[in-house]
Amino acid sequence: MLVDSHAHIDGAEFDADRDEVVARAREAGVVAILNVGTGDPHGGDLERAVRVAEQYEGVYAAVGVHPHDARLFDERAAERVNELAQSSKRVIAWGEIGLDYHYDNSPREVQREVFTRQLRMARELNLPVIIHSREADAETVEILRAESGGAAGIMHCFGGGYEMAAGVLELGFMISFAGNVTFKKAEALRDVARRVPVERLLVETDCPFLTPVPFRGRRNEPARVAETARCLAELHGIEADEFGRITTGNFQRFFNLSLTQ
Ligand SMILES: [Zn+2]
Ligand SMILES: [Zn+2]
Repeated sequence: MLVDSHAHIDGAEFDADRDEVVARAREAGVVAILNVGTGDPHGGDLERAVRVAEQYEGVYAAVGVHPHDARLFDERAAERVNELAQSSKRVIAWGEIGLDYHYDNSPREVQREVFTRQLRMARELNLPVIIHSREADAETVEILRAESGGAAGIMHCFGGGYEMAAGVLELGFMISFAGNVTFKKAEALRDVARRVPVERLLVETDCPFLTPVPFRGRRNEPARVAETARCLAELHGIEADEFGRITTGNFQRFFNLSLTQ
């Protein structure tokens, strides 16, 4: 049993074979996929993420404005995301939101503002948040400390140092690892992963990106979450099956879902 806690299966990369991709995930034991909507909040991308979730058993959605698109966030966008977040039982989180200082697709000042605003909006709806942070560890934790107000959250595609991990664990957050933890040069990241308590761990693909070893160079998909799970299980000295049960239990508990195979 496994869960892909962060995927983007509504994208054009999956238009030709989405049914098969979801079927392959199920065959691989993936009982739930959290499909995270990203893109222009005015353009229909977030609606599509919810629609795709509704098409498949065990597929859930998150909606929010990614830090890349923070510059497109305005009052109309806020209203749309707010409505969408309440539009379907399949929407179980607000995200992904946060800071991305690697690409800087939106001005940092705007990213911080939009991140803060969305944390408040999610809290009002009592929705857990999915956090994206790249090369912005200290500021992400600082904003979360000030604004999360005890809200539940997942630090997705963790790529920071142990200090950041400790900071978000202290806030009660879950930490989700993606395929990059399997990369040959990711020794430092594996050291951090080893130190995160298993009851706070989740696994994800972030597909179509970050395809884990040994499938690098190909499109990623939810079934591949098994590779990342195997790597993390090994780091924790646990059998892969047991690790799958634990992290699936973590996801269920976190979102208050009951998942069946
Ligand atoms: Zn992300
Ligand atoms: Zn993502």
